[in-house]
Amino acid sequence: MASTVILVTGGTGLVGKAIQYVIETEPEGSRFGKKPGEQWIFASSSEGDLRDPVQTRKLFEKYKPTHVIHLAALVGGLFKNMKYKLTFYRDNSLINDNVLQTSYETGVKKVISCLSTCVFPDKVTYPLDETKIHLGLPHDSNFGYAHAKRMVDVANHAYKAQYGCNFTSAIPTNVFGPYDNFDLEDSHVIPGLLHKCYLAKKNGTPFVVGGTGKPLRQFIYSRDLAKLFIWQLREYDDVEPVIFSVGEDEEVSIKQVADAIVKAIGFEGQYSFDTTKADGQFRKPATNKKLLSLIGDDFKFTPFEQALDETAKWFVENYDKARIGKVPTPAKA
Ligand code: NAP
Ligand code: GDP
Repeated sequence: MASTVILVTGGTGLVGKAIQYVIETEPEGSRFGKKPGEQWIFASSSEGDLRDPVQTRKLFEKYKPTHVIHLAALVGGLFKNMKYKLTFYRDNSLINDNVLQTSYETGVKKVISCLSTCVFPDKVTYPLDETKIHLGLPHDSNFGYAHAKRMVDVANHAYKAQYGCNFTSAIPTNVFGPYDNFDLEDSHVIPGLLHKCYLAKKNGTPFVVGGTGKPLRQFIYSRDLAKLFIWQLREYDDVEPVIFSVGEDEEVSIKQVADAIVKAIGFEGQYSFDTTKADGQFRKPATNKKLLSLIGDDFKFTPFEQALDETAKWFVENYDKARIGKVPTPAKA
């Protein structure tokens, strides 16, 4: 019988699939591979809607987890966040409250919840670090999601203070990789633009990038991020969050992203920017100093272009089963 049962909520999404990939492909017993006595459960929403406390309880009673990596969330890119602020706030608040309270009630030994660099204040000195979460209001474009997520840090401290729980959190920057949500409108920039560029090439239609192309982001490959969650599960026991990011000097502009996508997809036409679309936050650079001081400076991140090529290849090869959302029928030329 397994002595450690790790329940990954949101286990079927971008990050959950990457954790599963790393656990199944790294050598058994290695730093990021499966350890003897471990059982990993990757739960989907079809096994229980975590907005509902009764379904949450049932899921926990079914698997009896000793550890939880809590990824489940209503997730979306800038444009979806701007449209559904209340839904992002409510759904994520309910999910987080149910997962943490059920973990406490059922005696889970450790919970790692996933936040996002959106939780940080909009007006703050850069780089972002783990001490700055609550120093001001988040950017207006995603304040529903950001407020729900930052409250997890408050809850973690309160569970520790009142009950001594070992609950903590991770703060990843923008993530991408295989199994992302490649919806044309509601996804994040990399999967959204990969899909748009793929269709532009296939249908001979224009490739249009939203906004000015000037904003900067730090992107982390989902398979690198997966290793960081596995490290945190095994080697980090403190309530304070850890930022999971590439270096501060590795910000990439949206134009650079679009150029890399054009190359990866092999699109030969010109592309344009739709400057009527929002840019969102201009930049939100975060430091990974704390992470590297703990995991070791020798942790290797996959170079951006290599990770993007792997993602593009996965997307093209798996177009029929990828999450592509609604795709309009191309207009006849
Ligand atoms: P994703 O691909 O959209 O996956 C979301 C996962 O959550 C899916 O497994 C989904 O299950 C599950 N889920 C959604 N609503 C649920 C509900 N009501 N009950 C139970 N499960 C539910 O998202 P992701 O990008 O992997 O995100 C994982 C975590 O990383 C999230 O906490 C997100 O906030 C955080 N994060 C993401 C990014 C990014 O750029 N993607 C950046 C920073 C932080 P089904 O698919 O089965 O419905
Ligand atoms: P966030 O702004 O960091 O929460 O994440 P996104 O991935 O949604 O967007 C990052 C940036 O990409 C913003 O400046 C958008 O204006 C820009 N962008 C350009 N084209 C797209 C697109 O097709 N989808 C999304 N989501 N963003 C896009």
